Amino acid sequence: MGSAGSAGQGGLAGREKVAAPLIDRFGRRITYLRLSVTDRCDLRCSYCMVESPNFEPRASLLTLEELEQVALAFIERGVTKVRLTGGEPLVRRNLMRLVEGLSKKLDGGGLEELTLTTNATQLAQHAAALKSFGVRRINVSLDTLDPVRFARITRRNALPMALEGIDAALGAGLDVKINTVALKDGNLDEIPALMEWAHSKGMDLTLIEVMPLGDVGEDRIDQYAPLSDVRSALEERFTLAPEDFRTGGPARYVRVKETGGRLGFITPLTNNFCEGCNRVRVTCTGQLYMCLGQEDQSDLRRVLREGGPEALGAALDEAMTRKPKGHDFAIERRGQAPAAPRFMSATGG
Ligand code: SAM
Ligand code: SF4
Repeated sequence: MGSAGSAGQGGLAGREKVAAPLIDRFGRRITYLRLSVTDRCDLRCSYCMVESPNFEPRASLLTLEELEQVALAFIERGVTKVRLTGGEPLVRRNLMRLVEGLSKKLDGGGLEELTLTTNATQLAQHAAALKSFGVRRINVSLDTLDPVRFARITRRNALPMALEGIDAALGAGLDVKINTVALKDGNLDEIPALMEWAHSKGMDLTLIEVMPLGDVGEDRIDQYAPLSDVRSALEERFTLAPEDFRTGGPARYVRVKETGGRLGFITPLTNNFCEGCNRVRVTCTGQLYMCLGQEDQSDLRRVLREGGPEALGAALDEAMTRKPKGHDFAIERRGQAPAAPRFMSATGG
């Protein structure tokens, strides 16, 4: 099972020592890992999960040390960006130990960016620590500024906590990008106000199309709003000038002349960008998904527990041969089955 990837796990200091990069059979180089640290969450967003999901038994989860070993294996193979996600990453106990461990790979250790995506309800307690461990910018998911709507969308009354978390992050000097899922009959009328609010605080806003992941008990057709329509509506009120700016993800950006802020569009349905995909996802139980929208996976927990960290490199090489060309997301008719049975919170958003 030896491979270029199995060389030198642990302790490599510089980019010059990076083992062979991870390149899939379509020539796409993998430089971005989304690492889910838990599938649990303190919210229950209606497009993401059901009210009572079957969470993974705690015993199935990778330990914080194992999560770090998995991330290090990717970093040694040329992954330069790691995003911690979930579920809600900040509900994972002692998460800052993992952040601290990974932060040692920033500044010359191969990792260029360590970041996370959060709903911000517990961000006030962690913002300063994140900043101190070298996190520069984070994504916060927020779909509305209206407390009643927030409770309807997330099934929890937590808007004040989320807003407090956002202010704490800004106060700690973190760059914050707001991610908003465009929800038909949910928040479309509020998007201009959300954008003006975000831009007034110096935050980018990125809009996301709902993806058909998991059976959330609502028909996706009642949730899905094509961003092409949202953009046309915005263009009636605002001047949107395309920008080359990229963050290593699939968002495409415009500058809004009236607010001076940046607005992003993530359009997995109306315009998928799979040909440029540079990422993979690892769940909190160590399952490596080569594509968010496909079922194929590689069991890194088994590899790690049976073979130790040095066995991970060969497993990553093997997984690369199976990365699919793209997802098959479609929300076209009532009653359509999800593209994948897993909730977004299970794979890691
Ligand atoms: N709990 C954290 C949060 O909400 O930011 C991180 C995990 S969450 C699964 C990551 C992102 O996925 C959030 O921005 C959320 O809005 C988005 N998301 C969840 N389910 C989705 C779906 N079915 N389609 C599109 N985006 C979804
Ligand atoms: Fe939790 Fe994030 Fe899913 Fe909302 S989108 S339920 S905050 S994991």
